[in-house]
Amino acid sequence: MSEFHVLLIAGTHGNEINAPWLFEQWSKYPGIINSHGLNISKVIGNPKALKCCKRYISSDLNRSFQNELISNNSIDEYEILRAKELVSTYGLYGISPCHIAIDCHSTTSAMGNSIVVYGRRNADLAIASLLQLRLGLPIYLHEGDKTQKGFLVESWPCGLVVEIGPVPQGLLDISIIQKTMLTLECFIEEIYKIKLGKVHFPKKLIIHRHLRSIDFPRTEDGQITALVHPSLQGSDWLPMSNGTPLFKKLDGSILRYEGNDLPIPVFINEAAYVEKNIAMSLTKREIWDFSNDWKDAIIDLVFNQSFP
Ligand SMILES: [Zn+2]
Repeated sequence: MSEFHVLLIAGTHGNEINAPWLFEQWSKYPGIINSHGLNISKVIGNPKALKCCKRYISSDLNRSFQNELISNNSIDEYEILRAKELVSTYGLYGISPCHIAIDCHSTTSAMGNSIVVYGRRNADLAIASLLQLRLGLPIYLHEGDKTQKGFLVESWPCGLVVEIGPVPQGLLDISIIQKTMLTLECFIEEIYKIKLGKVHFPKKLIIHRHLRSIDFPRTEDGQITALVHPSLQGSDWLPMSNGTPLFKKLDGSILRYEGNDLPIPVFINEAAYVEKNIAMSLTKREIWDFSNDWKDAIIDLVFNQSFP
């Protein structure tokens, strides 16, 4: 049986440079984050793109972890090959198998410190619960979006994205780095506490469940005709109501939200999502009871490296 091993990833997007800088410092000065004796592999997701400070070279690495892409030997795009390499090195059946993957990102949106989970995997929800209990972090549950798939962490039995913002692409910002560091420290401590049998799970988990994404108003040939309204800019995690200004045109006209479902927007005006036709995503805040299945899944993974 292999020993429990954690994979920490930075620079999956090459223009998100804060977590890679933190990893570099951590390698130089191992004491800056206490690893509590855990087996941790730190890796740069997309080193080529990081060198050029570009999001990616050929395609988005964080949409490349799709079986049909990875198993297709005729594809020679850099990011697909890199996805294949990461899975064959650190994947469950790789050379240095890891059981949990934490993928550190930054966003241009004013999201603060947040966690993204993909789907409803028990062990992911257990870790998200622990981080929410410790740090009060909002959790964005990304599910039911067929246009966005192939996320890195989905290739590991348990994995989450740490998303910190706002910070422009390619800019180092000490507060973003410190927030990333704090989240990683708490994650490591919570895993350590699981190993010691001293972990406390919350009774509830507050999640923001993905509903849908909204694109910018565009012309037929794809040109953007209106931009995020100034009053909405920076209002991530705050509920919208019927009539909330969404977009503003140069002539001063305003497009407003229509609906009475009080959605909560996230990733408002994320620079990287313009190419994905996403101006923001809408979520619904839900309070879930903590499930013992989540706890059992993470304990099983940590102690037995087993998972459903
Ligand atoms: Zn990213």
